[in-house]
Amino acid sequence: HAKDEGKNTFRMFCEELTRSSRERINLIHALQHALDRNELCLHYQPKIDNANGKVTGVEALLRWTSPEVGSIPPDRFIPLAEESRLIIPIGEWVVRTACSQQVAWKRAGCDLSMAVNISAVQLKSPELIQTIQRIIEETGIEPEQLELELTESCLVDRPDEVIKVLEKLRALRCSIAIDDFGTGYSSLSYLKNFPVTVLKIDRSFVKDLTSSSSDRAIAQSVVNLANNLDMVTVAEGVEHQHQQAVLEEIGCNFVQGFLHCEPVPPEEIPDIVRARNGEEERVRKASIN
Ligand code: C2E
Ligand code: MG
Ligand code: MG
Ligand code: MG
Repeated sequence: HAKDEGKNTFRMFCEELTRSSRERINLIHALQHALDRNELCLHYQPKIDNANGKVTGVEALLRWTSPEVGSIPPDRFIPLAEESRLIIPIGEWVVRTACSQQVAWKRAGCDLSMAVNISAVQLKSPELIQTIQRIIEETGIEPEQLELELTESCLVDRPDEVIKVLEKLRALRCSIAIDDFGTGYSSLSYLKNFPVTVLKIDRSFVKDLTSSSSDRAIAQSVVNLANNLDMVTVAEGVEHQHQQAVLEEIGCNFVQGFLHCEPVPPEEIPDIVRARNGEEERVRKASIN
């Protein structure tokens, strides 16, 4: 019986495996048409400056709704886009759409920095620099207002080549952020050798910031490290006021999270910025009077 059971388990395992690989293949097929069929869009999450409580920038986050499968989260489809290299055209579309949006908002009086996630596959593509340069020229975005977010996994493989790419991006005057900082294979020598300008403290350290003294110590150390290296810090995944209070106390420069705002469609951003930045102004005036 044990043998039969083993066989059954194995058969179920194989069925499960083919089902999941079939699903993956179906998703990759669907993703191939996603761009042409206008199934992709960007949502934007505000980033708040702790110095004044104002929204000073946004992060572009990709959304995919397929008519067959429904909405699929990026953590699920980005890895497939990377494997199939569809991330190259999709990533280019993301940068162009985000930059055009930034310029359109700016013309309408809403001046925000724009952060865009860049995958390791894009970073390794020889066309990246030219693509970014072309998009900067075509859209008219001030490159200082474009921030490219990379994860630590982008930095491990062939670091010498990665440094060259990052230096070219810095020469274009873009900012470079390390996303999810502290969760990858970060080595302090990266921070020394890579021209990075921003560290994004990963959500996992923010989560228990007020109950875990080690998480607080880690967050504080990242802030100190960043300050000493002339970098700024952004905390991700801020959901509660008590986390926000600690982040202000330890000197974290910027915050993002559901406490302040979820990622929203572009048309909602100007009102959010006006309400929040205008309100801060009124609060300050009221406290002076
Ligand atoms: P990320 O760049 O670290 O983005 C932050 C993620 O945390 C986003 O998830 C955001 O919606 C979510 N988030 C923001 N505030 C909170 C909060 O307070 N609590 C919680 N629980 N979550 C919060 P999302 O949009 O699902 O994206 C997941 C990941 O997918 C991103 O992580 C990024 O690595 C990747 N991604 C998204 N868009 C793109 C893109 O255009 N290109 C590439 N290469 N990757 C992307
Ligand atoms: Mg990011
Ligand atoms: Mg992140
Ligand atoms: Mg993340």
